[in-house]
Amino acid sequence: FHQSTSAVRREFIKFFEERDHIHMPSSSVLPNDDDRSLLFVNSGMNQFKSTILGNSDERRSHLNKVVNYQKCIRVSGKHNDLDDVGKDAHHQTFFEMLGNWAFNGAYDKKVACEYSWKFLVERMQLDPNRLYVSYFGGDRMMGIGPDLECQKIWAEIGLPADKILPFTSENFWEMGKVGPCGPCTEIHYDRIGGRNASHLVNRDDSVVEIWNLVFMMYKRNPNGVLSDLASFHIDTGMGLERLASIVQNVSSNYEIDVFTPIIRHIQKISNADNWRNKMMSQRIIADHLRTFVIAYSDGAQPGQTDAGRQIRMILRRAFRHAVHLGITKGMLQEVVPIVVDTLKDAYPGLVTQIEWMQYSLNEEENWYWEIMKGGRAKFDDAVSKLPKDARTIPGALIMKLKSQGVTEDMSEAFAQSKGLTLDKEEFDRLAKLQKETGNDPTFQSKLNVSIEECPTHSDAEKYRLDENLSTRVLRLFD
Ligand code: ATP
Ligand code: MG
Ligand code: MG
Ligand code: MG
Repeated sequence: FHQSTSAVRREFIKFFEERDHIHMPSSSVLPNDDDRSLLFVNSGMNQFKSTILGNSDERRSHLNKVVNYQKCIRVSGKHNDLDDVGKDAHHQTFFEMLGNWAFNGAYDKKVACEYSWKFLVERMQLDPNRLYVSYFGGDRMMGIGPDLECQKIWAEIGLPADKILPFTSENFWEMGKVGPCGPCTEIHYDRIGGRNASHLVNRDDSVVEIWNLVFMMYKRNPNGVLSDLASFHIDTGMGLERLASIVQNVSSNYEIDVFTPIIRHIQKISNADNWRNKMMSQRIIADHLRTFVIAYSDGAQPGQTDAGRQIRMILRRAFRHAVHLGITKGMLQEVVPIVVDTLKDAYPGLVTQIEWMQYSLNEEENWYWEIMKGGRAKFDDAVSKLPKDARTIPGALIMKLKSQGVTEDMSEAFAQSKGLTLDKEEFDRLAKLQKETGNDPTFQSKLNVSIEECPTHSDAEKYRLDENLSTRVLRLFD
């Protein structure tokens, strides 16, 4: 088969259709009205939550074997990957999840494991020597023993014992704070070859998790207690971009065919002297614009609350990184049609919305610049009151600026341009204190700090990482 991401997606659906699965289209990336526990869909099973919980769901009650690809966004809640994006090779905020399901015991663990093995080794032609699996190793606190049945299944499939590993917390999957959950087994791929189990256990980037097969048996209740589900379900999820990166033999998700045109254009509009050692910023912009495009098309416009607020935050991060790359205001909108082009195979509806997306993006970008201008004025004003020879901005002042809407990132950028540094240690201490006493109004008013959840990680830290990460990947773009 052709190795494009589109072909991988197609082959997956076909493989399971050949095995009597019904293809259910991806749901919107915004959860149904009847599920308020998430801001964004975070996995393929979300739209089947009722079925799994055993509640009646007329639209889906006829289903027993299902396959799909699902739009997922992980920027909040239990599954939040925002801080990993661009830093490692395989986390995005928006990604597509391939999945197959067997509801109400339509098939068992053994069949599920055999299907996934067959798909990877025979259909995708992955080298079986590079695959590892993990299974639920049991948890005394939870009162659940190890899944030895699963361990045995993998051994029968032919995996050597040193490639079948018991994991605990990672191999008990939960959709959110409440809801369906259960032990799972995961398939991991050694990107380099010749790695061993310790690379997997130590979360070395070179061994990447690709597929999660969840055995849905429990429900987590609001009081934290687990109860049994009425029946057993298989629920699997595999990251499309991770699989594509393996099939295309590149070293990260950001180098697959759906990302390269986006990244290339970002480089084109970047300041020529500036972009080369800033790979991470390019990746973050590419990822965040994909997330914006998908969320927008499903109805999440940048706003003040819920999903809209997350999208605004995502865009602002993209704008910050655009500044870092020397991209001029107004140029990022050019990337939107390219993003759509890479996704339109799977989501043809995107095409008609390009202009609206560009309009919205520009609005947000203009506003962002206004805020930056205002922030700069506040920052300069505050700094002018410091002693003349001060080289460091005190933590309390950073905190105060933050309460006026000048985020730590903004202060950092402004400080840098003046050759000043931030007293981060003191700021972190105060921020922690604030978090701990967040509900205490007296503390709030004393510090004059409002609770606002702009991302607090420092970009400078990321840029530093950026330089290390880029050398290897850069060669691909020369
Ligand atoms: P990881 O441990 O790498 O964060 P996960 O265990 O949180 O992944 P699952 O909830 O098990 O992920 O989701 C199933 C599959 O979806 C993963 O095995 C992976 O292939 C893919 N996936 C999960 N998160 C992301 C992401 N942020 N970007 C791309 N693919 C992802
Ligand atoms: Mg994760
Ligand atoms: Mg994991
Ligand atoms: Mg997992």
